[in-house]
Amino acid sequence: MAESVHLNRRGVLFVLSSPSGAGKTTISRMMLEADKDIALSISATTRPPRPGEIDGVHYHFVDTDTFKKMAADGEFLEWAHVFGHRYGTPRARVDELLDAGKDVLFDIDWQGAQQLYQEAGPDVVRVFVLPPTMEELERRLRSRKTDSDEVIAARMERAANEISHWDGYDYVLINDNVEGCFDEVCAILRAERLKRRRQIGLIGFARDLIRSVPDADKN
Ligand code: 5GP
Repeated sequence: MAESVHLNRRGVLFVLSSPSGAGKTTISRMMLEADKDIALSISATTRPPRPGEIDGVHYHFVDTDTFKKMAADGEFLEWAHVFGHRYGTPRARVDELLDAGKDVLFDIDWQGAQQLYQEAGPDVVRVFVLPPTMEELERRLRSRKTDSDEVIAARMERAANEISHWDGYDYVLINDNVEGCFDEVCAILRAERLKRRRQIGLIGFARDLIRSVPDADKN
């Protein structure tokens, strides 16, 4: 069959988690640039913005009372305490993206991945990115030149804690080369998009293929 057909499918909820410094942010950015069919879920957080972060682009920066009200009103798909601040995934944007036929990328921690899976089950694909070694992770954190020794030690401790949840993920990648890791992430997304259970349009399509052959049901 030469003609290509576009089939309706269920959106992929694509979770990318890793300890800070393992390359998750770079890989997310590469994915969003390379593929217009996936868009980022923008979290709300009580953490203050870092230099260069824009409200509504990187996060929705809110105060604790606003966050608590949003949580009480059921506005979050999931939320968690991470490193002394609250972070949550607003439900509305995810619904809008899925309704528009997009897949959704989540840069959230292991607690978020777990809760999202409880909410949305097999629509969720959980990918964890590991650093090649802890020495390399520390080297990457130091090369940013933004943190004191004390902050780096705290980040390393948190990294070990985050990594201890690696087995709650569907895919685990080692980022020893960002291009290679990005290729693997793209391959996972491509294969997940093709899963039969996501291809809602296949039901009618396969039926029509069978019906288009006269007397096919006689054999
Ligand atoms: P950062 O403050 O460095 O931007 O993020 C700290 C951690 O919080 C990262 O591991 C990030 O993935 C996680 N995070 C960001 N947004 C959310 C969210 O909406 N929910 C959860 N559970 N974690 C989040």
